Amino acid sequence: MQGPSSLTIQSARLRGEAGLVDLVVRDGIIASIGPAGSASSDEVTINAAGNVVTESFVNTHLHLDKVFTLHDLGDAALADYQSGEMGKAMSAIETAAAVKRSQDVDAMLAAGRRATAMAAYYGNTHVRALADVDSKAGVRGVEVLVALRDEFAGVVDLQVVAFAQDGIIREPGTEDLLRIAMAMGADVVGGIPWIEFTEADMADHVRIVFDIAVEYDAAVSMLLDDAGDPGLRTTEMMATEALNRGWIGRALAHHARAMALYPDPYFERLVALLKAADVAVVSDPHTGPLHARVRELVDAGVNVSLGQDDISDAYYAFGRNNMLEVAFLGAHLLWMMSEPDLSILYDAITVNPAAAIGLDGHALAVGNTANLVVLEGRSLSEALRFHAAPSAVISHGHLIDRDAMQAIADVP
Ligand SMILES: [Zn+2]
Repeated sequence: MQGPSSLTIQSARLRGEAGLVDLVVRDGIIASIGPAGSASSDEVTINAAGNVVTESFVNTHLHLDKVFTLHDLGDAALADYQSGEMGKAMSAIETAAAVKRSQDVDAMLAAGRRATAMAAYYGNTHVRALADVDSKAGVRGVEVLVALRDEFAGVVDLQVVAFAQDGIIREPGTEDLLRIAMAMGADVVGGIPWIEFTEADMADHVRIVFDIAVEYDAAVSMLLDDAGDPGLRTTEMMATEALNRGWIGRALAHHARAMALYPDPYFERLVALLKAADVAVVSDPHTGPLHARVRELVDAGVNVSLGQDDISDAYYAFGRNNMLEVAFLGAHLLWMMSEPDLSILYDAITVNPAAAIGLDGHALAVGNTANLVVLEGRSLSEALRFHAAPSAVISHGHLIDRDAMQAIADVP
């Protein structure tokens, strides 16, 4: 699946810089960046023609085991999840669970392959992908995502999350299944404490996820407070547990939508806690009417990224792993459209998510692995306006075969 690892990109516009540059990639590493015209033609030469070139996109939140399942489900769950202030988010999860009994591995692989090829085509080279682990799905989703991780190695780097979507305490047997999933090769332990019935069960859920993370020396990802209930406190629980376990910078908070309804004094205290535990927040404002307080978190110095979350499943009707589209939607939902705001949103789909999932050296800089996109557009606002697929994607140092990915992805 991998193309050449030595190439030159001519006449590239870097973020925040006036002049154009040539970038030389040797053996997959960014070997040099010099003024335009300084690099001679190479075996493979890409002419960026003044368009913006940046590090590639990173998606910290994708339910890759559920992509393209919406047509099997009907949209009852979708309607519940998105109604009002998300008061029925829990019943959406219960409705959505039904599909898992009948999901077939080959169909999941085919749908996951299409969505992963979309990621490659749209320049999304690193994805944290969640697989449900519970009594209905068993560890089928992990099996599928591990296979896709191997298939797309070097093209799209998948971090597989063993995710307790239906709870741990309320879903007996899940704790054992999570351990089986980690032994099968899952990379990250995933939880969703807010759906447990009592506060004590929520705390137990958080504790069990960290127990397993410590056993496997793995990072943690949790879907937190994903409903319109200002009484939900599981973001605080996870950050506290991360602090107590020394899991600093290794626990990622997904959603935390209830934060939108928190009184300010509690919110301020929570922000201080997130910073102390170096907990990053991933927000997906296009998949529900409430969202984390992105601007305030950014202003406070919390690492915030934007995630795709869903692609045509019980919770969201669209999606194609196009992070420019995710940022474009975010610009509207978060009302962030000034040039500085667009720059914040662009960080939230590139360098911030890279740091949030533990990628070192993802930034566009000499000596780093070449993970690059050549955008269509001479500015970030132009690239966001059209959110077109990049004209070239370099992943893990190799030029991606764009046509092959487009064919697998089945995008027009
Ligand atoms: Zn999600």
